[in-house]
Amino acid sequence: MNREKILGPNDKAKVLENLGGPIQRDPGSAENDDRSLRPQRMSEMVGQREVFERLEIAVQAARQREEPLGHILFDGPPGLGKTTFATCIPHELGVPIAMTSGAALRAPKDLIPYLTNIQDRAILFIDEIHRIPANVEEYLYTAMEDFRIQLVHGDGLNARTINMAIKPFTLIGATTRAGMLTGPLRDRFQMREHLDFYSVEELTQIIKGNAKILQMEIDDESANEIAIRSRSTPRIANNRLRCVRDYVTARAEGKIDPDITRAALLKWEIDTLGLDKMDRKYLETLIGVFHGGPAGVEAIAHTINTASDTLIDEVEPFLLRTAMVVRTPRGRVATQKAFDHMGMSGKPVDIDDESAEDDQDTLFT
Ligand code: ADP
Repeated sequence: MNREKILGPNDKAKVLENLGGPIQRDPGSAENDDRSLRPQRMSEMVGQREVFERLEIAVQAARQREEPLGHILFDGPPGLGKTTFATCIPHELGVPIAMTSGAALRAPKDLIPYLTNIQDRAILFIDEIHRIPANVEEYLYTAMEDFRIQLVHGDGLNARTINMAIKPFTLIGATTRAGMLTGPLRDRFQMREHLDFYSVEELTQIIKGNAKILQMEIDDESANEIAIRSRSTPRIANNRLRCVRDYVTARAEGKIDPDITRAALLKWEIDTLGLDKMDRKYLETLIGVFHGGPAGVEAIAHTINTASDTLIDEVEPFLLRTAMVVRTPRGRVATQKAFDHMGMSGKPVDIDDESAEDDQDTLFT
């Protein structure tokens, strides 16, 4: 029979024995490819001013009241700064951060060590939070709301359910698919922030700053050229900058100018709008194979032998935003702009007849 009790400090130590060591890290040690170019403080971040100001107020209030910051959900396409905000916030608060991903949390037992080891007012960051299964999500509810979790101690007839208090903490979730989150989980986030694409000016500023960090000298026109071809996304701008750096190191004795920048980007098959091979393959298939659509994303993915998730998360957001593709109830449709850019003959389908679909994956716009 399961019995419930509130856990005392000694019981808690016993239960924790088998749960593995702490996973908290100093916020500065976030490990990933972007590490050296990732801003450490929110004030170093470019753009997203509205989001920045709201977060600054919330952080300052939490510090003054000596309370944990409310839970925060970031949504938006990949590479726009969700992880960067999440890793800057603990620096602002002076607390540690523990990081995991929705795909790694297959059962509540995967989440328990994070929650039991969390320090007072620390941050737990769950990337791709839309990928957590329903039982993990339900487990999060009481942790987020009451800072309590239930642990099962022992087996069979001796099993006891123990109700354990955890330290007040802040959950920061990031998702590229806000539409896939359930209402109850979404409602438990006090702040929900949608990150939008960046302007060319903002990207130019990021590129110039990062060129300094990479010890490159770059002129304004070259930085602007990279920005124009970075699909409005800082992570892509960083990648393009690194490509140009490699090219000038290997082929141009380290000297950057606008012509060399264009030659470098051409070598990496980045076109004048910043579309890469995969983006063009998508448009070529939609126009060439499906006659401009409407075509389902699964059918397009199947034809180009790619996961539909990759197309939805990484390829389509920019094409939709720049109106080269429109989503309709019957599928994706290429617009005249896409036909023109690809230099392909044919006539796009009349979009009015197809009535454009609401963007169901974007909750907050
Ligand atoms: P996401 O988590 O949304 O996929 P990241 O936060 O990992 O995106 O951002 C990728 C990279 O882009 C970062 O390492 C950083 O170099 C850069 N970046 C993102 N947002 C900004 C910003 N607002 N200002 C400056 N650089 C940024």
